[in-house]
Amino acid sequence: MSAAPVNTVDIAPLMPTYAPNDVTFVRGEGSWLYDTDGKEYLDFLSGLAVTSLGHSHPAVTAAVCEAASTLLHTSNLFRTVPGPRVAAKLDELLGGGGKVFFTNSGAESNECALKLARKWAGHGRHVVVSAFGSFHGRTLATLHATGQPEKHEAFQPLPEGFRHVAWSDVDALESALDPTVAAVLLEPVQGEGGVHPATAEYFAAVRRICDERNLLFMVDEVQTGLGRTGAWFAHQALGVRPDVVTMAKALGNGVPIGACWARADVADSFRPGDHGTTYGGQPFAASAALAVLETMQAEDVPARARRAGSRLAEGLEALDGVVAVRGMGLLLGAELAAGLDSRVVAAAALVAGLIVNPVTPTALRLAPSLLVTDDEIDRALAILAGVLAAAAEPNVSGRDQ
Ligand SMILES: *Cc1c(COP(=O)(O)O)cnc(C)c1O
Repeated sequence: MSAAPVNTVDIAPLMPTYAPNDVTFVRGEGSWLYDTDGKEYLDFLSGLAVTSLGHSHPAVTAAVCEAASTLLHTSNLFRTVPGPRVAAKLDELLGGGGKVFFTNSGAESNECALKLARKWAGHGRHVVVSAFGSFHGRTLATLHATGQPEKHEAFQPLPEGFRHVAWSDVDALESALDPTVAAVLLEPVQGEGGVHPATAEYFAAVRRICDERNLLFMVDEVQTGLGRTGAWFAHQALGVRPDVVTMAKALGNGVPIGACWARADVADSFRPGDHGTTYGGQPFAASAALAVLETMQAEDVPARARRAGSRLAEGLEALDGVVAVRGMGLLLGAELAAGLDSRVVAAAALVAGLIVNPVTPTALRLAPSLLVTDDEIDRALAILAGVLAAAAEPNVSGRDQ
């Protein structure tokens, strides 16, 4: 097994915000990616839960090509056709009674939610409470909402109005509330934080507290939304109805588009001029999203994610070197046995042709296409079994750090 591919693209012109692998991908189809050397990889990360229908899905390709030769963009000063259709479909999937603002990313969807909470609550009531271990984005405000203080330090001072509480701790939440709080913002599964699902009891308690105190319950479904967890939205499986739901990643299957949905009376706190975006909801991205949602409905991706998720979780649990599996549907975290370094395992898996993510130093994150086949799951498990067996061998583990 040779580690470094022959044809690696020079990334020197890029700001050094990432330290990518040597692999350079040039093509993708379904669950498979191909590098510059023609080597194939099973993609069990999906561009961070983005390509939920797999790479180059024909319905999305057709929609994107059609939009590209028809109308890409006009600005939001004019009406266009696909955007409102996507909004209506999302509202239907969310149970109705809401309105949508389109964005280009997850962070922007959360920015919309944060501004909406402030506009809805009024001056003096602007604080948003989120959880330690959360991830809500990289803009200054969403970075402050992100409950990872070590990520804040270099960028202080951050926008005021954020408070963090222990994850899944109802008492901690109650004691953080005062009359300045407008909203609670939580992920149904902390994805970047290590794939930690909320319990239905926790979400029910948060819903009750928000109702008692007239706070908005805002749910960040940027990673969990659109079938990934086995429900259209993970909060539905947790049995609550939030006031605000943000999403992005899977909505365009790789075309950048996000959305912030809010209960209609909350959404109507915004008046023309309060918030905006040049690109958000443009025909190009909205056409992709429409094709994504239609395909997801036709394929019943929540049911597929539940079925494939059980098969993958059971297979992972049976692997030597995996001590626990957590998550929902096809958003899974595999906790590795003591002594195994997730970065070493993920790097070895990549060499062996499987893409997984070392989400914490001791856990792998898996998020394959929601259309993944049983055969692809079994092949991924076989690759991982081999990689874990080799990593557990003291002499060939490569664990030299
Ligand atoms: C990825 C992610 C974001 C940020 O999305 P970007 O598109 O990178 O801005 C926000 N919240 C959650 C839960 C995410 O997983």
